[in-house]
Amino acid sequence: LFLLLNYSSPCCFGVSWLFQVDEYLQHLQLSDETLMDLSMRFRREMDKGLCRDTNPTAAVKMLPTFVRSTPDGTEQGEFLSLDLGGANFRVLLVKVVSGENRRVEMQNEIYVIPEDVMRGTGSGFFDHIAACLAQFLEKMGIKERKLPLGFTFSFPCQQTKMDEAVLMSWTKGFKPTGVEGKEVVSLLRQAIKKRGDFDIDVVVVINDTVGAMMTCGYDDQHCEIGLIVGTGTNACYMEQMRHLEMLDGDEGRMCVNTEWGAFGDDGVLDDLRTDIDRDIDAGSLNPGQQLFEKMISGMYMGELVRLILVKMTKQGLLFQGRTCSLFVLNTYYSLMSLSEDEGLAEAERILRGFGLDPTVEDCIGTQRVCEIVCTRAAHLVAATLASILRQIRDNKAAEKLRTTIGVDGSVYKNHPQFSRRLHKMVRRLVPDVDVRFLQSQDGSGKGAAMVTAVAYRLAIQQAE
Ligand code: BGC
Ligand code: MG
Repeated sequence: LFLLLNYSSPCCFGVSWLFQVDEYLQHLQLSDETLMDLSMRFRREMDKGLCRDTNPTAAVKMLPTFVRSTPDGTEQGEFLSLDLGGANFRVLLVKVVSGENRRVEMQNEIYVIPEDVMRGTGSGFFDHIAACLAQFLEKMGIKERKLPLGFTFSFPCQQTKMDEAVLMSWTKGFKPTGVEGKEVVSLLRQAIKKRGDFDIDVVVVINDTVGAMMTCGYDDQHCEIGLIVGTGTNACYMEQMRHLEMLDGDEGRMCVNTEWGAFGDDGVLDDLRTDIDRDIDAGSLNPGQQLFEKMISGMYMGELVRLILVKMTKQGLLFQGRTCSLFVLNTYYSLMSLSEDEGLAEAERILRGFGLDPTVEDCIGTQRVCEIVCTRAAHLVAATLASILRQIRDNKAAEKLRTTIGVDGSVYKNHPQFSRRLHKMVRRLVPDVDVRFLQSQDGSGKGAAMVTAVAYRLAIQQAE
């Protein structure tokens, strides 16, 4: 609103235009009461996923990860890890050093997954991954060694052990055929075996949220939540075993991958979703799925903005109602980065880059749309995060909770306003929790190595 007030000199444009713009965007602005209500709804969804009777029909799956402890700093060794499901596909060599100079060192390579591999068969897909791995081992000169490997596979998976994960459904832009319903570690092992030129020991498969929590847990023992806001969005946290009804055993805790991106897939968000959200979903690779994620994450944010601008233009609110290049351009990155505080000149520059000839009103209107879409995303994440924070606080029966959230993802890290808006709203929704947000240094890469290292430490301790 400040932006509008700052620039709302009536000599530039009519006051009624302003009202029209804001009225148009009203459904995207969620009040504190709505967010509080949303947070309550999500808490019920979490319960539904955790309880044995309701789990089969729950939209939010609350998946067990078999990760039961965070690092304690005594881990050590050399590990490989694969990071699949974020903006890039990477292979890493991670060295964990314990003792006085405890640290984590790593080397990594980014590999491209060509479009035809992304949309091809599952076996072609895993062959490609194995080929990249071979190339990496060659480059590092370690093809002869059989190193332990941690696999960060950032999709909803049903796990029964640390090194077994059955893919429930692809999300984001991924679509290789014949993988859904299959166990992905064995698909990887098969692809490696088929090549026959190297061998590795796949020890764990984890979600990227778990990686974020584990890397931050190495530096801050209070870290018990992992959050990703990047291409997709999701969170995990340490839950009491006794609440995980799907598993036997009541002692201690286990990390639960909430898969909150699927919040609303059963219709519980329908009152908050707008026409634009429905359009985004209809045009996506996985219609009807990941409805919460589609209101938030980087894969959809730019397109949300674009669709709103197109609609407003058609209604004569922007760009003098003229059909323009906005209708065809792929505005994915540029619009997402069009941050409102960079000034009108920046907005004008970006819009001109699209071949438009914007007026001052067009620039202000566009910035306003970007601001509102980003704020809504940040506030939605704040609401579900608040539910997790309350759950942890109640688990500990604590009046006041002090906790740390390990965060990763391109939107959180790179959007100039997102994180500030998120922090502010979390603190408003749960004022009695003292939260620290800690940026994970490469959680999807190092995290899997950390989990592997912890598994090794525990195995050694058990053997002793
Ligand atoms: C996936 C999650 C993942 C998140 C962030 C979602 O689409 O379902 O498993 O954690 O993206 O990468
Ligand atoms: Mg990632």
